[in-house]
Amino acid sequence: MFKSARNIAERKALEMALQQSLEHQRRLTGFNVLLGDVNQAIARAEDETSLLQDICALAVRYTNTRLAWIGKPDTQGDFQVLAAAGETEYLDGIKISSRVDLLRGKGTTGISWREDRPVYVESVAHSPFMLVWADRTVQFGISSIAALPIHRGGAIWAILKIYPSEENVFDDELRALLEELAKDIGFGLDHIDLTIKERAASVFNEVLLNSLTAGINVVRFPDRVIERVNERMLEMFGAASLDDLVKQSVRDIYWDTETFQMVGEFANKVLAQGSGLLRDVPYRRLDETRIYADVSGQKLPTIAGEPERIILTLMEVTERHQLMEDLSRQSLSDLLTDLPNRRALDVELDRAISRAYRNKKPLAVCMLDLDNFKFINDTYGHGAGDRVLQVLAKRLRESLRKTDFVARLGGDEFVLLLEGFGRLELLETILGKLGESACAPITLEAGQSVSVGLSMGVCPYSSAQVDRSDTLLRQADQALYEAKAHKEDRSRFWALYGQPVPIHRNRYQRLLWAGCLMVFYQPILDNRSCRIVGVEALARLKDEENHVFSPNEFLPSLNEADIFELTRLVLLQSIDDLQHIDVEHGEDPRLWVSVNLDPSSLNDAGLACLRDILAKNPIDPHRIAFEIPEYGEFLNTDEAVRRLEELRALGTRIALDDIGSSYSSLLRLKNLPVDAIKLDQGYVRTLTQNPENLHFIITIQNLAEDFGVDLVVEGVESDDILNALMMLNVDLVQGYGVSRPMPLKDLLEFLKHPPIVPRQHPTSLLGLYAELIGQHNVINKVLRKNPHLVNHATLADVSACPVTKHLSHLGHPEGSPLDILHREYHCTLASGYTQCIAAPKHNDWREVEEAQSNLLAAILVEYRLAEEKAIFVRPRKT
Ligand code: C2E
Ligand code: MG
Ligand code: MG
Repeated sequence: MFKSARNIAERKALEMALQQSLEHQRRLTGFNVLLGDVNQAIARAEDETSLLQDICALAVRYTNTRLAWIGKPDTQGDFQVLAAAGETEYLDGIKISSRVDLLRGKGTTGISWREDRPVYVESVAHSPFMLVWADRTVQFGISSIAALPIHRGGAIWAILKIYPSEENVFDDELRALLEELAKDIGFGLDHIDLTIKERAASVFNEVLLNSLTAGINVVRFPDRVIERVNERMLEMFGAASLDDLVKQSVRDIYWDTETFQMVGEFANKVLAQGSGLLRDVPYRRLDETRIYADVSGQKLPTIAGEPERIILTLMEVTERHQLMEDLSRQSLSDLLTDLPNRRALDVELDRAISRAYRNKKPLAVCMLDLDNFKFINDTYGHGAGDRVLQVLAKRLRESLRKTDFVARLGGDEFVLLLEGFGRLELLETILGKLGESACAPITLEAGQSVSVGLSMGVCPYSSAQVDRSDTLLRQADQALYEAKAHKEDRSRFWALYGQPVPIHRNRYQRLLWAGCLMVFYQPILDNRSCRIVGVEALARLKDEENHVFSPNEFLPSLNEADIFELTRLVLLQSIDDLQHIDVEHGEDPRLWVSVNLDPSSLNDAGLACLRDILAKNPIDPHRIAFEIPEYGEFLNTDEAVRRLEELRALGTRIALDDIGSSYSSLLRLKNLPVDAIKLDQGYVRTLTQNPENLHFIITIQNLAEDFGVDLVVEGVESDDILNALMMLNVDLVQGYGVSRPMPLKDLLEFLKHPPIVPRQHPTSLLGLYAELIGQHNVINKVLRKNPHLVNHATLADVSACPVTKHLSHLGHPEGSPLDILHREYHCTLASGYTQCIAAPKHNDWREVEEAQSNLLAAILVEYRLAEEKAIFVRPRKT
């Protein structure tokens, strides 16, 4: 019985052993299948999340395992579940840590992680590790636990947990299998990493190959550090070595913060969507210059837990950008100076006005123009002119603040918009500095240096006043006109709209504008009546100390505006004085007054002013003559005819002054609407030294007669000259020989007792000379045209000739050399006459002319001798 009982026990033990062996075998088979399937899954695996999940699911499926999970501690040390299968609820609410100082870190997972080794719990119910968790674990039908470290890239990366439903299952073989499994999972993950790296490298290489002209860089996120670059990228950025870019933040390669941020947003999009394209991105080269690139970004495949990366391909488009920019600038900017042009000004001015209105801040619209640009162009050529404009544009831009605006309208015209200058004094300072910088000498290419002068009109904008841009520009232009009109005497180069230009006046200008003017009158004598018929009004300036200045002193210091003012004042004074003269002197004859008028005053404004004065004038305008000097080109222009006609339409007379002083053709006078000509004093004052000039006076006399205009001969300085002109029958004369210019009071006295006595005969040899050439002139004309009117007996009779008597009076009696020559002359004249009557067509006056020349030459010799003697005997009349 014992034997059989033993046998039964033995059999049962045997059966159990067999059972256990079968169980063991089954477990081993299950785990072997698991290992095989896991290896297949690994071979197929493309991404780690699904691989890990597959492994857990396979573990639960093929083994008697209640739960399998894989977890990895986060930065806090708390395990995060990456994949789980089976009784996953078990994990709900459980916290497992890798930290030794925490209770939840003291379990199998924590130990396995910290000690990087497999940890097995053969019986959950009896394990010292499981004190806290045993009950809950048992509830989930879990009897034993394995915690296995998974390595990745050579280091511990996660823990694989297997929870079998049976106790004491982890024999050596199974442990070996499980550790193999954990190792294989590690290989699998490494394999995935490698594949990803290879794929990233191949994308990189592909792009590299495809784009030798493109700059390539790999940027790591989120810290945006450059990790890799290609050669072209180095070249694009002017980098000498990889170190210049690699491992650097991208912050520095973008032109500005906005671009850095903008590309950051673009990168986020690429990270989310896989790829993207950005155009015209401004980059900063290492040498601080700017380049532009079109950028395409592609996200690189990422290893879980590793930073994300983008590969960026840069196609440099700086040239295209430049071109586009140039094109857009060209339409709004001036090609020569690169400043904004008129179109840009229109846009900007409207904006500036709105800003000024909104902010209640001042705005000044300034119109600027060069004073001597034409001169620079004409003298140095257009290339030099262009250079001057370019330099000036640069200086204007540099001397203004960033918020100010300067545009070139064309030519030498610029417009400046100055904003927010606070008070007007500040504007003065700004413009002062601008003037200083702009007017500094400019060196031209050929080495010469030129300086420019500026004129500027400023129209300040006030929100209450006007809001139209064209009004502001027009007003600035008007102010510019004012500034230009006072080029000579203004104290600063700019004028404010609506305000007088501050004037910097010289001494004479101050006297003129202070009204320190005196008008002197010089009488004009009519030789026929021996009466004073008119006066010339001549300006004088008198200072506080009663120094009187003559025009020769002050005229060169006056500008056009001053000269017109002078004329205006002289005219007003003359009209007043003429009324006095009328009262004092009576009406016989009524004097006329001539007022000097500079051609520069013959413009619209000048004529309008004269018209205004004459309209209010009580004097017959015909008693007023304007003397216009012959100098300059004015009289040679077509405009002169129009302007003189306008002047004459005022009812006044016109005299051309100082005829013969300039080179304008005397024949031109014929076409001018004038009433009189005044011969230049130069020919007259020197008659004593150059009596031959009497011939020229005769020519002018004939010319005036032909043209039907009066002739006034000025510079009649001495009695001799006056006498000579009388002998020539010059009707109107003026000069010291008649009277010096004098104030009204003296004139009135003079008019009461004019010291003029009619002298019908020559009182000097000069007078005699004039008489002879005058007579000859007459005889010649008469003999040629109508010889029968001449009495032969008279011609031959020397004693009947008045010259014989005059000669005797002048100290050359009968028998003197002059008397003999005079007789010879008469003989020749008489025989010439006979010939002339006999054959009027063929008469030859050569002999007559010769005889006369001899006589005249001898008279001159005598006259000069007498003059020379006189110089020693008496002081000369001045
Ligand atoms: P003008 O119009 O030819 O005036 C004649 C000048 O000759 C006057 O000089 C006069 O004093 C001077 N003169 C007159 N007779 C003689 C003479 O016998 N011998 C010499 N040596 N000189 C004589 P004045 O007053 O110094 O004026 C000089 C010039 O100034 C004038 O020449 C005229 O062109 C200009 N002028 C004078 N007043 C005015 C004025 O109100 N307006 C303008 N625009 N010019 C004026
Ligand atoms: Mg004059
Ligand atoms: Mg004159």
